[in-house]
Amino acid sequence: MKVTPYDMESLMSFVGRAAAMNSMDVRSYLRTLFETDDYMNPVPLPEDLDSLEKGDFLAGLNDALDPEKRRLELLTLPSTKPGVHTKWLRRAGGIKMDGDRFRGTPSFAWCPRCLLVDQLNGHDQFLRLSWRLITRTFCWKHRRPLTTHCLACNDRQAETAFVFNGDNVVLTCGACGSPYGTQLGLPDMSSATTIQLRDNKNVQFAWNGAIQLEMALEKSLSEHSKTVNNRELRNFILAFANILMKANPHSRAPIDLFSSVAFPARPNSRNITSLDRPYRASSIAVRRKTHGLMAAILKRRMNLFSIKGVHEKRWGRDPTLPELRAELEPEQNAELDRLLLMFPASWV
Ligand SMILES: [Zn+2]
Ligand SMILES: [Zn+2]
Repeated sequence: MKVTPYDMESLMSFVGRAAAMNSMDVRSYLRTLFETDDYMNPVPLPEDLDSLEKGDFLAGLNDALDPEKRRLELLTLPSTKPGVHTKWLRRAGGIKMDGDRFRGTPSFAWCPRCLLVDQLNGHDQFLRLSWRLITRTFCWKHRRPLTTHCLACNDRQAETAFVFNGDNVVLTCGACGSPYGTQLGLPDMSSATTIQLRDNKNVQFAWNGAIQLEMALEKSLSEHSKTVNNRELRNFILAFANILMKANPHSRAPIDLFSSVAFPARPNSRNITSLDRPYRASSIAVRRKTHGLMAAILKRRMNLFSIKGVHEKRWGRDPTLPELRAELEPEQNAELDRLLLMFPASWV
């Protein structure tokens, strides 16, 4: 059965769909494509197809799956976003980590509305390459938070399954089988809160602020980026995010001091906040909240945060820099002072 790559699809998604149409899991399917007579020495399978560089494996995939047009390199990060190092890809991890290491296993995020639109358009559901970036926590099209776990069973370790239903491929939870395209709620929120958020204009403002920050950050990721300003902006955002996510000596990360109905997130666990660069290891929800808080502080947007213990109102407002500083330890304040000296003012 022939599979055609979609515009903006990730290679992992494309191979997942091809495997599903052949009633196989991805690894077994790749084994059949790269069969060798020497069973003691099988062809090594790449850890993450989306970060695959040009080479024998990619050529082999093109031979097998797209022999005429050979488009598969367009589904990988190294070809579509040159210079964006693969360290910016979302990977599994965050529970039993030691140092700044991550498991190589890819980890996915998706927009249920985009998947539903795929289905309504009568084609397969597929994962977008851009959803793999750790800096991306929103769907830019639907302007809603991306999802990273099944909202039906809430199993955070469950894998994403590609299921061929006879007509099309749909994405479902690997644990309970619930189709992702039907899960239109918001992660970590009750349905009552989700309905309240829908009617709250300030939430849209708050999310737009975070999306703008993510757009600027993503543009600045390329190491080939010509403008110094871009690199400065990236370094600033990541350093600021790391200050917010990193625990002080009493094991409390500043980001956990703030609460927001628009950015719900479970606190960073201690093994993440003790990392030098917790940004890369934190969950999508904590990163989204951090982007939202930074946008609120830097751009003074209505952002619906409140500081725990100070403001108990459910619908908060903008936190101010002095409020943030009052909650930080002296050494965290000193770090922030050094950072603000480098702030690329052109972004504000
Ligand atoms: Zn979407
Ligand atoms: Zn499930």
